[in-house]
Amino acid sequence: MTDTPTAALLADRIRRSGPISMADYMSAVSDAYYARGDIFGAAGDFITAPEISQTFGELIGLWCAVVWQNMGAPAAFRLVECGPGRGTLMRDFLRATARVPGFNAAAEIHFVERSRALREVQRESLKDHTVTWHDDIDAVNDGPMILVANEFLDALPILQLEKTTDGWRERYVGLDDKGGFKIVLKEGEPLRGLSAPLGTIFEISLAIQNFIAKISRRIATSGGAALLIDYGHGIAPLGGDIPFGETLQAVRNHKPCGIFDTPGEADLTAHVNFDSLARTAWTDGVKVFGPVAQGTWLGQLGIKLRGLQLAKGKPPEVAKTIESGIRRLTEPDAMGALFKVIALAHPALATPDGFQQDTPA
Ligand code: SAH
Repeated sequence: MTDTPTAALLADRIRRSGPISMADYMSAVSDAYYARGDIFGAAGDFITAPEISQTFGELIGLWCAVVWQNMGAPAAFRLVECGPGRGTLMRDFLRATARVPGFNAAAEIHFVERSRALREVQRESLKDHTVTWHDDIDAVNDGPMILVANEFLDALPILQLEKTTDGWRERYVGLDDKGGFKIVLKEGEPLRGLSAPLGTIFEISLAIQNFIAKISRRIATSGGAALLIDYGHGIAPLGGDIPFGETLQAVRNHKPCGIFDTPGEADLTAHVNFDSLARTAWTDGVKVFGPVAQGTWLGQLGIKLRGLQLAKGKPPEVAKTIESGIRRLTEPDAMGALFKVIALAHPALATPDGFQQDTPA
């Protein structure tokens, strides 16, 4: 373990009041990490879809504009983005939707972003638009809403359960003899009746469930839709396997590292469980579309054609970069299959672009 300021703070907290849950560890470490500011791109720690190709934000923008038309083109609606990173997706989005009469004028832009440093980067990217920032979705005023989030859910805290000879135990973070972090098991059985081999890890994100419940209720009451894109497990077929296994990972300088190596200086994420996400959404009264593979969804929306348009008349190196960016987003062995797209929509809304029909509960 490197002695980062976050490690020192957390070790102190554990010394004073005992081990903390994995979710508390992840939440504290992520807040410290995103507070650093611009961690994206070649010089940063990882790269995301909107930073790879402008077509990503453009197509999402046009998708949202069609949803808005299907909502009856309300004169005002909340356009919400959660975890906007550098603001690139929304900048590309609004440039594309500027051609849709009435859309940009009707959109009240709200960003849900906790990092003050990233808010400054976003302010610069969106300097031609009026944006309101919030720490939490609760603070966004009520009314029809279209919400987008790319790689936001994977950053929300998860808890981990481990199957032991005494049943399921929750994994906590404690200190070893040298003052480094180690996994400890909390007394008590939080889960019963779920059989799995000894040593199996089962991850649950209460933060994702809470978030999905809130946005679903809002959409069911006031109208609209949410488009969520992330990497993770799909929906298990009826009676199929529950996604077991440890997926929590840390990435620094584009390379994986241990979750306790440099707390606050590496990005911590976990696979999103789309199965449990969809179940929460159904309970709260919305229709669920997908999840479908990102490559398939972008293909349906015409990403190849958009790429050709962009490349037309450009020098060959530029055309090649455009094409390779699109391949990276869509090919199954790159981001096309692991990343998935799911939409939650008011039950009265027509099937949104890129999906065949709603997923039955
Ligand atoms: N959507 C962007 C960035 C993804 S990184 C892109 O695709 O490039 C995750 C983003 O979510 C960052 O902006 C981070 O600051 C934000 N974030 C993480 N946890 C959050 C939380 N609990 N509440 C609000 N924002 C959060």
